[in-house]
Amino acid sequence: MAVRGKVAAFNLPPLPTVGEIIKLFRLQAQKQLSQNFLLDLRLTDKIVRQAGKLKNAHVCEVGPGPGGITRSILNADVEQLLLVEKDPRFIPGLQMLSEAAPGKVRIVHGDILTFKMEKAFPKHLKKNWEDEPPNIHIIGNLPFSVSTPLIIKWLENVSKKNGPFIYGRTQMTLTFQKEVAERLTANTGGKQRSRLSIMSQHLCTVENRFVIPGQAFVPKPEVDVAVVHFTPLVQPKIQQPFELVEKVVRSAFQFRRKHCFRGIETLFPESERLKKTEELMMAADVDPTLRPFQLSMSHFRNLCNTYRKMCEEDPSLFAYNYREELKQKKRQHLPKNTSQTEQTE
Ligand code: SAM
Repeated sequence: MAVRGKVAAFNLPPLPTVGEIIKLFRLQAQKQLSQNFLLDLRLTDKIVRQAGKLKNAHVCEVGPGPGGITRSILNADVEQLLLVEKDPRFIPGLQMLSEAAPGKVRIVHGDILTFKMEKAFPKHLKKNWEDEPPNIHIIGNLPFSVSTPLIIKWLENVSKKNGPFIYGRTQMTLTFQKEVAERLTANTGGKQRSRLSIMSQHLCTVENRFVIPGQAFVPKPEVDVAVVHFTPLVQPKIQQPFELVEKVVRSAFQFRRKHCFRGIETLFPESERLKKTEELMMAADVDPTLRPFQLSMSHFRNLCNTYRKMCEEDPSLFAYNYREELKQKKRQHLPKNTSQTEQTE
């Protein structure tokens, strides 16, 4: 019952295989939690290699499950490994791994979406933002329903230099549904260019490293998976607050197939929509007939910088919410219709 797969630098003592752990602790994957496991240690080694050299590193693995990636991380001779796992069924198997690597593993039974990453690593590992990234890495193969909201939260953390980025430019190696990975890394004009492309690439160097076919997982998911590596940039490409960039980018992609001004318009109240949209597009030097996916990073930078100036001139502008205005309009028309309906019924 020895560990199979390539041993990088550290030898875990003989242990049951990941498959045997699954059987031993009856860890059937729960479909409703989108649990798909990786049992092939050559593959988990390959994922872990994407993080770079991990010797003496402090690593947080999110969603270790039965521990395939966990073994590969330990084999890379890390200093400390923090495991954050939501499903309690996996904890005994992870404890077995922890005993095999004494003093190296800390197990947290919790939800990564609420776990406080600010305190996860020792203070002395902190680096200045401008310096090389700290020797801290986040690695994880999470369910798709968690990895997308999580990366948006962590991108906001990158922008604010808090959460895991209180330690500096912490690197992340995470899996995503292949199509989401394509969106994260899509270039100007690309089919998958979207809000995620701008939000991730303006804050990080984002690399789509390799695709894992669905059949590599047990049970096999409907889709293929891609491993994406993120390194926060020293200077974001758009130097504006996260919320402002988010608002402009979300508006621009509101109507994907239409000319970009149709989405940009939604930044402004109806009463001044045409005039202000024209003013913004002109000052930002953006051709209003481009489609949202044809806008480059510098187009978005100009749009955000100009919108910021407009918000400074009119402090009520940033709070304006297009969807709220639409809802209110509907409500204004509703009482008449509702009472009519009530009367006729
Ligand atoms: N890393 C393992 C592997 O590659 O075989 C398991 C991958 S499975 C797709 C996702 C894992 O993330 C499961 O163990 C699941 O319980 C865990 N998980 C799901 N949501 C989580 C959350 N919010 N916080 C922490 N762990 C979570």
